[in-house]
Amino acid sequence: MVFELLKQQRRRRLRARPFPKDWLTLIQRHVVFFHRLSASDRAELLGHIQVFLAEKRFEGCGGFAITEEVRVTIAAQACLLLLHRKTDYFPGLLTILVYPVTYMVEEKRQLGEHVWEEGTVSRLGETGRRMGSLVLSWGAVKHGAADPSNGKNVVLHEFAHQLDFENHAADGVPGLATREQQLAWSEVMRSEFASLRAADESGIPTLLDTYGATDPVEFFAVSVEAFFERPHALRARHPGLYEELRNYFHQDPVEFSAEISPG
Ligand SMILES: [Zn+2]
Repeated sequence: MVFELLKQQRRRRLRARPFPKDWLTLIQRHVVFFHRLSASDRAELLGHIQVFLAEKRFEGCGGFAITEEVRVTIAAQACLLLLHRKTDYFPGLLTILVYPVTYMVEEKRQLGEHVWEEGTVSRLGETGRRMGSLVLSWGAVKHGAADPSNGKNVVLHEFAHQLDFENHAADGVPGLATREQQLAWSEVMRSEFASLRAADESGIPTLLDTYGATDPVEFFAVSVEAFFERPHALRARHPGLYEELRNYFHQDPVEFSAEISPG
């Protein structure tokens, strides 16, 4: 408990530190949603970024050099997920690995009971519950920061997985406060996931990325991307899903979204 108290104290000090001017310039230049947040949300975000950057390690891969721009652009987007909530700053995550563009991995994918597909696939990012690390492609990170309303954001996606892991299971359910919230969540997610699967199979266009039809874990991550990037459309077309995410995040992204046309 002493350790916990010291940790809280250290984080309070980090949040209260004057925010470095050159970091702020980089955020203002590269992270478009920042300008749309309220003044109090901007201040809260900058405090979280200070803690995040003090606690997480960054490592460049494939010859990529980590710069201040890389660190703050990733931190600013990841910390959007932490606003308005009590947070432990993605406790399972120690290191963020960054590749210059997409990176290739060997993958074996099950297509049917006895059918496997093997090959090299390109990825924009990944993370796992026991990895302690999260992998990102800088190209995708930069693109995500520059366009806050196309429905895709690799940083929000991968860090949503980290939130999912916080309650000790990778199951598409983050730590929810109450039993009622858990029940409402599982009911909404089950039916929304089923309809995304059905739409994916029949080729009906969807607001949610059909990658979310893979499993409930990916469903949660793509829902978080839509929640922050296409909140008007998500609220109109999937009100129950929007509501559960709003309750969990204590945020209402329609208030600051750059999304132009709902629907
Ligand atoms: Zn994912």
